[in-house]
Amino acid sequence: QMRRSRWRRIVVKLSGEALMGELSHGLDAPTVTRIAADLTNAAALGVEVAVVVGGGNFFRGIAGADKGIERARADSIGMLATVMNALALEYAIEKQGQTARTLSAVPMPSLCEAYSRQAALHHLGKGRIAVLAGGTGNPFFTTDTGAALRGAELSCDLIMKATQVDGVYSADPKLDPTATRYEKLTHDEAIAKNLAVMDTAAFALARENRIPIIVFSIRQPGAISAALEGKGKATFVSP
Ligand code: UDP
Repeated sequence: QMRRSRWRRIVVKLSGEALMGELSHGLDAPTVTRIAADLTNAAALGVEVAVVVGGGNFFRGIAGADKGIERARADSIGMLATVMNALALEYAIEKQGQTARTLSAVPMPSLCEAYSRQAALHHLGKGRIAVLAGGTGNPFFTTDTGAALRGAELSCDLIMKATQVDGVYSADPKLDPTATRYEKLTHDEAIAKNLAVMDTAAFALARENRIPIIVFSIRQPGAISAALEGKGKATFVSP
């Protein structure tokens, strides 16, 4: 496979919300298919693709804790939610004719492989999309931090943070019509301007390991490969 991208290996952070389309929760099949096609197109550029999936379309630990479930327990439920999304996404990717493997940080041997760095690198090297479930495998973390952690340990040269907005803004564009989008930022500028690119622990890991982050909207078909090729609206954060 000829490499047609400047990136060698990427980790895409896909929130659970991205998979629910216009639904209020759960999985929207056409949306999952569209994103699977997008990931397949990115892999076709010759890039090794790892995807860390969130679980917010089913359950978030903080919401559970607000309802009286102890936080660590609620986070276990949240991690299970990410496995549901991962299995759905893996299936949708394979339906596109692209091989994929789910690797879970929470071992579930009858459902998928357990995550290990070696296994992930093995599958990536074979051109398979690695769908990474279970976040970091620990409570009190998020899948943003999972993405930054996997990005660092798998030597990814880019973290792609897929969101509902097309980048990082000076203020919340939903609340402030004068908010402007940043084209480029350094990690240090993002901190100085108090801009939330990813959650704090995730951002710290990316910054310490000098991993660039691209924040882009997943709402349009083709968004991932467009962002990879530097097309379309996005914010690029680099050291
Ligand atoms: N979670 C966790 N540890 C991790 C990653 C996730 O405990 O390393 C739990 C946590 O409860 C979180 C839920 O899984 O709320 C779903 O992940 P996240 O909120 O990051 O999903 P997203 O918002 O991206 O859909």
